[in-house]
Amino acid sequence: MRWLRRLWTRRTPDAGQTAIWLYVACGRCGEVMRIRADRRYDLASALRDIGESGPAYTMHKDIVGTRCFQRIAVDVEFDARLGMLAHRISGGRWLTEAEYHATIP
Ligand SMILES: [Zn+2]
Repeated sequence: MRWLRRLWTRRTPDAGQTAIWLYVACGRCGEVMRIRADRRYDLASALRDIGESGPAYTMHKDIVGTRCFQRIAVDVEFDARLGMLAHRISGGRWLTEAEYHATIP
């Protein structure tokens, strides 16, 4: 069964790398949320002509918290290496990871 273990240890880090974490605060009740997006399913490829500038991938998420029914819409643009280029949010406030952890005891 050694081959199985090798397969497992190789696959585990890959699975973690597909996660993209978003941090938002609800604009109505202030609830702070961490949302997991997945690179494999949530990113849309933004096909462009060669030389044309703009994001390589875009992502849209509609988020509803547990405290109220406010809908928070998030749009994120990524470059080809999945670095975040820009983000837009409506219905809530964008948080950095540090801001999120500062609000959670
Ligand atoms: Zn809320």
